[in-house]
Amino acid sequence: MKQEKFKFSSRLVKCYFDADFSYLEKLVERTKVIIITDENLAHHYANKFMDYKTIVVKAGEEYKQQATVDHVINELIKRNADRESILIGVGGGVITDITGYAASVYMRGIKFAFVPTSILAMVDACIGGKSGVDVGLYKNLVGVINHPEFLLYEYSFLKTLPQEEWINGFAEIIKHACIKDKQMFSFLEKETLERFQNYPKVIAKLIKQNVEIKYSIVSKDENETGDRKLLNFGHTIGHAVENIYKLSHGNAVSIGMAAACKISGDIKSFSSKEKERVLTLLKKYHLPVDLNFDKEKVWKVLLMDKKKSGDKMNFILLNKIGDAFVKPIPLAHLKNLFNQVLL
Ligand code: ADP
Ligand code: ZN
Repeated sequence: MKQEKFKFSSRLVKCYFDADFSYLEKLVERTKVIIITDENLAHHYANKFMDYKTIVVKAGEEYKQQATVDHVINELIKRNADRESILIGVGGGVITDITGYAASVYMRGIKFAFVPTSILAMVDACIGGKSGVDVGLYKNLVGVINHPEFLLYEYSFLKTLPQEEWINGFAEIIKHACIKDKQMFSFLEKETLERFQNYPKVIAKLIKQNVEIKYSIVSKDENETGDRKLLNFGHTIGHAVENIYKLSHGNAVSIGMAAACKISGDIKSFSSKEKERVLTLLKKYHLPVDLNFDKEKVWKVLLMDKKKSGDKMNFILLNKIGDAFVKPIPLAHLKNLFNQVLL
């Protein structure tokens, strides 16, 4: 097991890589733990959760809603959770969001920690302290920024992760490569999803590398005034199409990244050769690069995006592979690009 410490202004988050779930009992007193997980994980890992109080919620992004948080809070009351309790979110990104948010508001805030079990949660959702819920069509509209006490990575959870969830997670890995790491981009070009699935050591190393990319971006800009915005690459159009068309997050972000590459080419000298490399890599990892979407509908949702400020939208574009920048684009111009570049 490798232990690292991630330093944020409000908290030092301990991170245990290559750990085993059973290590939990060394970190926290069993009687204080309440596990929050979803039905799929409860089904696969009942034996791991057996010794703990557990709250099981329904699986899926459609349950990342306030009603689920209310349900968790009612269950916490039933289980006599108090200020000494610690919630452990065991699951994908939906579970880490629900857990972080519920723990932050219950009794004005109790302790929480994560055991991420999907690629997406491991490389993205559980780092950075953001947690929240969707409101209708609007993704992550309500939530908090608050860090967990610790993160525990047991890679063997990935054995039961469905294929589409592997693909989902790789959208965020490719995003990290596009915005920050051209070497990792080249490495991904040489590898295949199947090799990562079959070689635990290779995926373990890639996950750790991605955690470090995300941590280094977030820790330098916790309030998202600078570099942290780059993590939204692909997410502006991505979020809009995700909820309208009920796409998985990874597929939506992939479509968003492909669109951002097309817009990058139109605005900057992002070469068409590089654009093709990004599109080819996405396709190699079984991700979609286009969608025949209803532009008016998507535009309306886009206007509600948190990245809009005044009459401009802060759009993340690429200079080169591994080098992203924030471009405030006037809404009128963006609308034109929308109609001309994205066919
Ligand atoms: P995310 O994609 O943000 O991680 P979810 O929390 O919805 O979002 O997880 C995606 C799906 O994968 C859910 O249906 C969840 O139950 C399932 N899942 C997550 N981790 C595992 C795992 N290790 N084994 C089996 N299913 C898993
Ligand atoms: Zn994302």
